[in-house]
Amino acid sequence: MEQLRIPGPTPCPKEVLQAMSRQMINHRGPEFTKMLNNVTAKLKQFFQTKGDVFLLTGSGTGGLEAAIVNTLSPGDKVLSVSIGVFGERFATIAQQFGADVVPLKFEWGKAADADAVGKALEAEPKIKAVLVTHNETSTGVTNDLGAISSVVKQFDKLLLVDAISSLGSINLPVDDWHCDIVVTGSQKGWMVPPGLAMVSVSEKAWQAHASAKMPRFYWDFTKAKKYLEKGETPWTPAISVVFALDVSLDMLLKEGLDNIFARQARLGQATRDGVKSLGLSLFADEKYASNTVTAVATSNGLDIKKMRQILREEHQVVLAGGQQSLDGKIFRIGHLGWVNEDDIKEVISKIKIVLPQAGFISST
Ligand SMILES: *Cc1c(COP(=O)(O)O)cnc(C)c1O
Repeated sequence: MEQLRIPGPTPCPKEVLQAMSRQMINHRGPEFTKMLNNVTAKLKQFFQTKGDVFLLTGSGTGGLEAAIVNTLSPGDKVLSVSIGVFGERFATIAQQFGADVVPLKFEWGKAADADAVGKALEAEPKIKAVLVTHNETSTGVTNDLGAISSVVKQFDKLLLVDAISSLGSINLPVDDWHCDIVVTGSQKGWMVPPGLAMVSVSEKAWQAHASAKMPRFYWDFTKAKKYLEKGETPWTPAISVVFALDVSLDMLLKEGLDNIFARQARLGQATRDGVKSLGLSLFADEKYASNTVTAVATSNGLDIKKMRQILREEHQVVLAGGQQSLDGKIFRIGHLGWVNEDDIKEVISKIKIVLPQAGFISST
């Protein structure tokens, strides 16, 4: 079987794929209502929230757009805390809808500094909201969201979080950390195909929503809430993906949140140890290295494109490359969702075989 080790879409267990093959049901009938209510209740356990959680049909980026257009108005000042490609994307969405974006960028491979966030908020008192990526998939870095959130809340700002590649895999207690909107996507740690974004909405986010003037129709949270109250979604949902999520959430709950976080931590460590044992270097600051995706820097003549091609064609191992300015400079191993220690061992041993064929000259 192919080892799909990219940071989403991730492989799905057989039970989940089987659930996807079910016959269609009426999305405005009692069977769907029961499933939607169950899935929403289970998701709240993963978000660790008593607030609202909505299933939106769309990819994760749709969820990010929903977070922005539902809480902001054109002209609002927002602080964009960015450490990579996805932080930049979040800021671009806000900008496209007319927000006045104040950028706070950190070197790619490093985490955001909470003190710098505090200084930026002090310097610009008109800032209404802070955008932050919990786990930056493009660089393999996890921000200290707890520390950032305490600073943001000291200044009483809205906190909008891209947790697309972390929620359900890395601890993110939404209510304890006072996150106002948190977004994730079905194809990351959830062992489910692409098609759904899941978002939480806090009381403070609802207050902002009441006066938010950005244009919105499909993503409108007022409609999402009104329909969820009767056990429906405003528009036809990706029913097959909801079938899949219903099954995968049961599997994940059976494992338990703490066990999942611990497994992810072990897999992250095993991947980093494995990469280093090959004489390769990690791209990310190891102190903040992600437990769902590992970025590896090129060195010693390694041709990353060639390595990925040989791995794919001769060893059925699919790894991700670098995005934008990191193209050709890093490769990324996804280790979130349905993955165990043996998968990581296999991937590392295949990389070991291919390295010399892709120009890597060992320095040890
Ligand atoms: C994958 C990812 C996205 C984009 O999600 P899509 O489902 O491709 O729209 C955004 N942010 C992060 C951190 C991601 O990992």
